[in-house]
Amino acid sequence: MNASKTEELLRVAKFGGTSLAFGENVERAAKIVLSEANRRYVVVSAPGKRFAEDTKITDMLYAAYDAMGEEKDRMLDRIKERFEEISHHLGVDPDLDGIFSKIKEAFENGLGRDYAASRGEYIMGIIFSLCIGYEFIDAADVILFFENGEFDGVGTQNALQDRFLGCRCAVIPGFYGRTPSGRIKTFARGGSDITGALVSRAVGADIYENFTDVDGFMMADPSLVDSPDIMEQVTYDQLAALSRMGAVVLHEDSVYPVKLLGIPINIKNTFAPDRMGTLIVSSMDKKAPRITGISGKKGYSSIIVKKNTSSNKGRLLSEVCEVLNGAGVGLEFVLAGINSVYFLVSERELSSCRERVVLEIKARSSPDLVDIKDALALVAIVGEDVCEGALYFKMLSELSKSGILPTVVIKPDGEDCVILGVEEFEYRDTVRHLSKTAKDLNGIEV
Ligand code: ASP
Repeated sequence: MNASKTEELLRVAKFGGTSLAFGENVERAAKIVLSEANRRYVVVSAPGKRFAEDTKITDMLYAAYDAMGEEKDRMLDRIKERFEEISHHLGVDPDLDGIFSKIKEAFENGLGRDYAASRGEYIMGIIFSLCIGYEFIDAADVILFFENGEFDGVGTQNALQDRFLGCRCAVIPGFYGRTPSGRIKTFARGGSDITGALVSRAVGADIYENFTDVDGFMMADPSLVDSPDIMEQVTYDQLAALSRMGAVVLHEDSVYPVKLLGIPINIKNTFAPDRMGTLIVSSMDKKAPRITGISGKKGYSSIIVKKNTSSNKGRLLSEVCEVLNGAGVGLEFVLAGINSVYFLVSERELSSCRERVVLEIKARSSPDLVDIKDALALVAIVGEDVCEGALYFKMLSELSKSGILPTVVIKPDGEDCVILGVEEFEYRDTVRHLSKTAKDLNGIEV
């Protein structure tokens, strides 16, 4: 993409809590916004932690709401001080006295915890809009929930589009909206990402930039692998697979609205904005690495049920499914062998009902064997061609050289993902070996 083309792209930028933790950081974020004329809509989180032991503004607000008497006032004063520091640094003058006396009044009138929590984003939005000279749009006017607390997607899309008509540039606080009766309602924690995606969809953005404090998503868990590479590109579906298999990435609700329109999400570092970051797209471009990422989780059990007669396997499968379902054990993966069926389930869910499950399977299906193994881990290898050709054989054969032989390999056709089951004690080494092989394979030109 050449420079002039880049400038034409309509961008929605969302800044997370660390990027806005104190005045200097907010100033940096403001400079980023103003460095591109087409970064026209900005979504902000509440200020986050300034240092490791610090408390996020959102948590301070929850604590203030729960506190009693003078302690409540003292806590609100501490929150106000943080916004004063930011405002002074930026040289803007929001009416913090007025805003905080309204908050105190609202607390007294019992407006609720969600209202309390939302004020961090609200005030940050006002300050940021004053700083960069964009219009402030209160999320309560455009992000809508039904009275029962469920999110109203259609209402929100219409309200956002109406409000953006004729509004060239705006700052919108993340994380909250309101119900028809006017009650403030928040998304789950981290929900400003969702607001960013909703705004991107409503304005038909070319790109949704999600500014945070890291260079992008790492190819593997850095607590297991030494300095893993940053993923340059990942598809929405690959990201969902990595996240379901344990990677800490974006919540699916904050991907869905932009995925619908194929709007790419660019995870970028506020503190190194020139770096590429991670681009989340519908489909990878040709030059993308072959393995996108490795993720995994411990805490699985396998259940094998064997029946050596020429019995109906479909029936056996459905009987065991019903037993597990009745016991409240969710199915992670199911495979059918020649004379057996194989289930991977959560060890925690199975632990409270294991004897009952075995007895019921025996009573219903009269199997020859019911065998349960605990302490299993699943590791996902995610990448565009990972299911096809020589790529996954290579990954497996390199892994076997280190003496690790997966107990199960799940390779769903048409998905960019191969899942290996290993013993928990082999988990760390499996992730390390696979990451090393992925790095080597990604380095080879195709
Ligand atoms: N401030 C909220 C939180 O701390 C929402 C967000 O930052 O996205 O979870």
